Amino acid sequence: MRLVLLGAPGVGKGVQGNLLKERYNIPKISTGDILREVINNKTPEGIEAEAFLRSGKLVPDSLINNIVNKRLKNDDCENGFILDGYPRTVPQAEFLNEILSKNSETLDKVINIEIDENIIIKRLSNRRICLSCGELYNMLTDPPPEDGVCRVCGEKVIQREDDKPETIKNRIEVYKKETQPLKEFYESSGLLVEVDGNNDIRNIHKNIISLME
Ligand SMILES: [Zn+2]
Repeated sequence: MRLVLLGAPGVGKGVQGNLLKERYNIPKISTGDILREVINNKTPEGIEAEAFLRSGKLVPDSLINNIVNKRLKNDDCENGFILDGYPRTVPQAEFLNEILSKNSETLDKVINIEIDENIIIKRLSNRRICLSCGELYNMLTDPPPEDGVCRVCGEKVIQREDDKPETIKNRIEVYKKETQPLKEFYESSGLLVEVDGNNDIRNIHKNIISLME
């Protein structure tokens, strides 16, 4: 089962990815996680990526491709994977097709979660994150401990600049513009399935499963 999850920031891709991971027993690979991992491990790619991020630049396609390619070669990907946050551009999607086809593999589905903008804004402005390990919290449903430190690693939990309401609208616009070509790319190859994200977590999961099976 080789899957890609698409959806604007805040649609609940992370949660759905985790549920799929449990159900199919395949790893969920998020770009944020693997970037953090290579940076923490100071691999050559990690050192390069960190330099881009430090200077406020996007990590270029070629470097992201390289990092994802290495990650997909891990043994745990033998029975498949769920990609979250990758591919983000058509060139990345083409690269992914290329590396899969080298092993005579293809993607099974690209799941696009759609949701109302206002719900995203409400969700994201309640989000908090541990800058060190990436653990997510929600001020309404899953707040960080009272002392404001991460339950996993003990570092400080913060609200990212990105999750402030004034910047969320902008992020959604950017995401839409950026992802439209990607959606069209996967639609034309018949892989794209649309899921209504204006629903509770369990129901969204059920809908995804029924689309898969
Ligand atoms: Zn932490």
